[in-house]
Amino acid sequence: MKVRIFALGFAFAALTSMAAAQPSSVVQKTYPIVQGKTYKFERVADGVYYATGGFGSNNVVVVNDADVLIVDTGTSPTTARAFVEDIKLITPKPVKYVVNTHFHFDHTDGNQIFGPDVQIIAHEFVKSEMMRGNVLDREPYKSSAGDAYPARIANLKTQIAAERDATKKAALTRDLATAEGVQAQLREIKVTPPTVTYRGKHVIQAGSQEIQLLNWGLAHTGGDTVVFLPREKIVATGDLMESRLAYMGDATFDDWITALDALKKLDFTLILPGHGVPFEDKALITAYQDYLQDVIVKGNQLKRGGVSAEDAAKQIDLTSHSKAFPQITGPGAELRGMRRLYVWLTERGGG
Ligand SMILES: [Zn+2]
Repeated sequence: MKVRIFALGFAFAALTSMAAAQPSSVVQKTYPIVQGKTYKFERVADGVYYATGGFGSNNVVVVNDADVLIVDTGTSPTTARAFVEDIKLITPKPVKYVVNTHFHFDHTDGNQIFGPDVQIIAHEFVKSEMMRGNVLDREPYKSSAGDAYPARIANLKTQIAAERDATKKAALTRDLATAEGVQAQLREIKVTPPTVTYRGKHVIQAGSQEIQLLNWGLAHTGGDTVVFLPREKIVATGDLMESRLAYMGDATFDDWITALDALKKLDFTLILPGHGVPFEDKALITAYQDYLQDVIVKGNQLKRGGVSAEDAAKQIDLTSHSKAFPQITGPGAELRGMRRLYVWLTERGGG
């Protein structure tokens, strides 16, 4: 089933502009492509593929001497099954390692399709968050998926009942079928935490392939992993660094900026982000650090001025960052990110 239209990063669901924006500083290279039924694989290096087109995260495939490591599993078991099926187009080797870059549903909710012979590896925080038992009852899942699709389905049904034009009615009916298909996928999710956890650094030696899992403390979430391939000089960053603005609802803002400093010190030439497009220019990382810094400063000013988080989400002016992040088309920021900023500012006693 086609779910591609729902594959947009959930972080942007609440932004006014859904335009497929790319930073002007990202020079998009073209790579050899293997097109599967669901996923498109860009061969960015020998044995390394960037996979897009599924439901949720963009994933990475590393083909080792005897097996395969994948980074992230998407939003549903259906998309993970489609991913594994499509991987057979690039290699007959079995998936042995799954890395979850962080606990968010769009990176982990395909985990359940993997058997006990597959290691699901993540920072220990990922396991503890997923073991708390209510990840499907809270953000970011709740308003991005759990509550979003029932609301969309109800809305479409109302629209269909009121629509007089037969062509428009048919189009709405197709949208309804797609939304109900997604809803069915979401109902199948059984939250499946990682089976192997680490802190700080974890190295996988898969034949001649060295794969480093690195964590630099709190950032996008409480336990983000970047996957570094020193031989290929490639790093998969999850949502710690996207080619566009990331969700901030679980952020620790100042530590995130520090973690990005650590990222810049790695010896890589290509970033494969959890959403967006591959990019080479480290200047985009600095631009994102500047953005986060500005979020802190301007959010703090608004909070001290008595502006609520809800109003700050409408008012905060981050438009000076629109050159690097063209999805910024006017004042405002994602509401869950601003709510988190306010909580964080209070916790650190700054506001
Ligand atoms: Zn995330």
